Amino acid sequence: MRWRSRLSRAITPHLSFGSPLEGLTTLGIGGPAECLARPVTLSELKAILSFSLEEGVPAWLLGGGSNVLVPDEGLPGVTIQTGSLNGISWEDKGEEIFIKTESGTLLASILALAIRKGWEGLEFAAGIPGTVGGALHGNAGVEGISLGDLVHSVSLVDNRGMLIEKARKDISFAYRFSDLHTGNRAIASARLMLKRSDPEKVASRVRYFLDRRKNQPKGVKTAGCVFKNPDGQSAGKLLDEAGCKGMRVGDAVISMKHANFIENAGKAKASDIGSLISECRDRVFHRTGITLETEIRILGDDL
Ligand SMILES: Cc1cc2nc3c(=O)[nH]c(=O)nc-3n(C[C@H](O)[C@H](O)[C@H](O)COP(=O)(O)OP(=O)(O)OC[C@H]3O[C@@H](n4cnc5c(N)ncnc54)[C@H](O)[C@@H]3O)c2cc1C
Repeated sequence: MRWRSRLSRAITPHLSFGSPLEGLTTLGIGGPAECLARPVTLSELKAILSFSLEEGVPAWLLGGGSNVLVPDEGLPGVTIQTGSLNGISWEDKGEEIFIKTESGTLLASILALAIRKGWEGLEFAAGIPGTVGGALHGNAGVEGISLGDLVHSVSLVDNRGMLIEKARKDISFAYRFSDLHTGNRAIASARLMLKRSDPEKVASRVRYFLDRRKNQPKGVKTAGCVFKNPDGQSAGKLLDEAGCKGMRVGDAVISMKHANFIENAGKAKASDIGSLISECRDRVFHRTGITLETEIRILGDDL
């Protein structure tokens, strides 16, 4: 493939070909990436994106892989894993603190910093795996609080490799939604605003949010909630009432603890997860007339 050698020449050190993606997702599922790129600098991220546009090669963004389903046949083109873009800096402006974080930084890392410093605002993120980029893409959150609430501005790289700055007022955030990714853009970094508080108060709110997770499966491979909550209703409750708990296709199982989680109980395939998703959606629809929308992203789906 000529594009592969051209990309190798352009961005030498951080590429591999045919690498399995299962180890890069929390479900532990996924075939190989035709090319896996792990950019270390913003310039590399820009170069990969403009390269893929010029060559007509698809590009996929992968952060912590905690909200995605990667197909069994893998992903064509370039999969960009952002984990090495993980710089953090901050400006202390008295009562307000502005954290600048690259998109591959783990939410857990900025939360740990905020607890240590006594900065308030991010406590809801306790127990949410994944990166800032993935969390902004889907506006991750819990109990009505989401990462978008803290955003001051976001830097994006478009598919021509150009950097775009977006102020909060120009970004649309809603429940598990942002418009940041429209037009194939990658989130490069974000500026988040936290408030000065004290470490004990912040730590106590973190404990509260961790405690709220006790009804979720632990120590098993999942991608978090499979479906979004429909208006005013709980997807987990609808799935439970439709008798979905314990349903199984291959090694993919609906958690007995929380019906909105699918577990990979062994060697589940993406196709097993896909079948369970369809079956659960049908059951809930036939019982209630509600069509559940997936929260997890199926990479490669829009090919
Ligand atoms: C046990 C568990 C609990 C969870 N609890 C919650 C919860 O309470 N609330 C919640 O909202 N979520 C929850 N999740 C889901 C998930 O952790 C979050 O959505 C997380 O923010 C996803 O981040 P990620 O880096 O893993 O994204 P990925 O899974 O890697 O990607 C998710 C999407 O974002 C895109 N993306 C990733 N990085 C970028 C980037 N730099 N630029 C553009 N697009 C990008 C990907 O292409 C994909 O479409 C949970 C998951 C697990 C496994």
